[in-house]
Amino acid sequence: MADNAENFLLNPKIVENYSFLQNIGVFKYIEELNQEIRHFKRLLSGAAEIFNRTSIDDIINATVWQISDQFIPSFIVFLWKPYQNKPDVIIRAYKNYKLVDLTVDIDSIIYLEPFFRQNPQSISYKILRQYIKDTDGDNPVTAALDELSPELVIPILGPSGGLYGIILIGAKMLADSYSELELDFLNKIMSFVSQAIQNHLHYERSVRDIKTGLFNHGFFITRLSEEIAHATRGERESSLIAIDVDQFKLFNDNYGHLAGDKVLEYIAMVIKQSVRMEDVPSRFGGEEFNILLPNTDRNTALIVAERVRKAVAAMEVPWSPSLPQVTISLGVFTFNEHTKLPADEILHRADEALYRSKTNGRNRTTVSASQGLYHKARQIENGKKAIEKTADVEEIQDTEAR
Ligand code: GH3
Ligand code: MG
Ligand code: MG
Repeated sequence: MADNAENFLLNPKIVENYSFLQNIGVFKYIEELNQEIRHFKRLLSGAAEIFNRTSIDDIINATVWQISDQFIPSFIVFLWKPYQNKPDVIIRAYKNYKLVDLTVDIDSIIYLEPFFRQNPQSISYKILRQYIKDTDGDNPVTAALDELSPELVIPILGPSGGLYGIILIGAKMLADSYSELELDFLNKIMSFVSQAIQNHLHYERSVRDIKTGLFNHGFFITRLSEEIAHATRGERESSLIAIDVDQFKLFNDNYGHLAGDKVLEYIAMVIKQSVRMEDVPSRFGGEEFNILLPNTDRNTALIVAERVRKAVAAMEVPWSPSLPQVTISLGVFTFNEHTKLPADEILHRADEALYRSKTNGRNRTTVSASQGLYHKARQIENGKKAIEKTADVEEIQDTEAR
C-alpha cells in the first residue's frame, strides 16, 4: 500500500474510531479500491508494452507474456488477414505459452463479419455460437471453432467495421472459470491488442503494393532518401537495382492479362526470396521493380541482381495452357559519399544501366560505372577492375566520371 495510505491509517483519529470504521466497511472499501488501482496499473503497463511493438509477431509475443503473468489459458490463437482483398489468413497458436502447430481449419473468417459488425467487442463463444446457429445455421468456420471450443472470441476490426482477424482464448488451465476481474483484464488487454494489430495492418497496407505485397513507390522513395542521407554522411554505401520485365506487352498479347498478372506475382515472390530483411524490394507500378540494398557495394549488388535474374529465368508459373519462360533486364547503380546525386538522379542512373541491358539483348544485368571518383580510385588501387565481366554482365563506362 502507498505510504500516504499507511500514514492515513496510523492517524490517531482513525485508530480511535477503528471499530466504527471497520463496521461500516471503510477498510474493505479501501482495499477494493487498491485492488482496482493495481488492476488498472497492470492494464496500463500492458497496453504500453503492446503498443510499443513494431511488428505483429512482437505484438503477439508481448500479449502472450502479459497474459501469462495473470493465468494460463489452455490456448491462445491469433488469426488475421494481411490483405483485406485476399482470402489468405495467418494463424499463430500458443499452448502453455509455447508456439504450436495447431491446425485450425479456417481459411476465411468472412462468416463472422456480420456478427462483429453489430457487436464490435469480445464475446463468449457460447453466445457467438448461438447467434450463428440462429441466423445462418452451420458454416465451415463454426465447425473448426467447435473443435477448438474457445471461451472467448475477440475481433480485430477495421475502421469501417470489416473483420481483419480474431483472437481465440481457451478455458483456464487451473481453476474452473475466469473471475470477473480476469475477464475484464482479458477483454481490455485484447482490445488493445486488436487495436495494435489493426494499426499495424493499416501501416503495412499503406507502404505495400496490393498486387504483389512488395513495398510501394512512396515507401521506396522515402527509404531511398534515408539511404542517400547515410551515404552523404559517409556512413555507408548502398545500391539500387532497377528491374523491367522483357517483352511483357507481347506476353500479355499472347497469353492474356491475367496470366501476365500471375507472372508479376511470381516475379515479386522471387525478388522477396532473393533479398535480405533490411533490403527494400518494391514495385514501381506496371512491370517495373526496384530493389534498394542498404549497406551494399556494387560487387554484392551485382551478385544479388544476377541471383534474381537467374531465378526469374528459371521460374515456373503454374498456368493452363503452360507459359513460356519470362526474363527480366536489370540495371545496378551504387552510391556513396562522393556520389552527391538526388534520389531522382540516382533512379535515373539505374534506369540508364537497365536501358543498356535492353538494347544489348535483354535478360542481363548492367552495372553502371558512373559512381564518381571513389570507385575509380579504388579500382586503380586494387590493380584490377572491381567488377569482373561475365557473359551476361556488362559494365558501362560513365563518360562524365572520366
Ligand atoms: P521491353 O522488353 O522493352 O521492356 O518490352 P515491354 O513490352 O515489356 O515494354 P513496354 O514498357 O512497352 O510494355 C510494358 C507492358 O507491361 C505494358 C503492359 O501490357 C504490361 N503491364 C504493365 N503493368 C501490368 C500489369 O499490372 N499486369 C499485366 N498483366 N501487364 C502489365
Ligand atoms: Mg516497362
Ligand atoms: Mg518491359
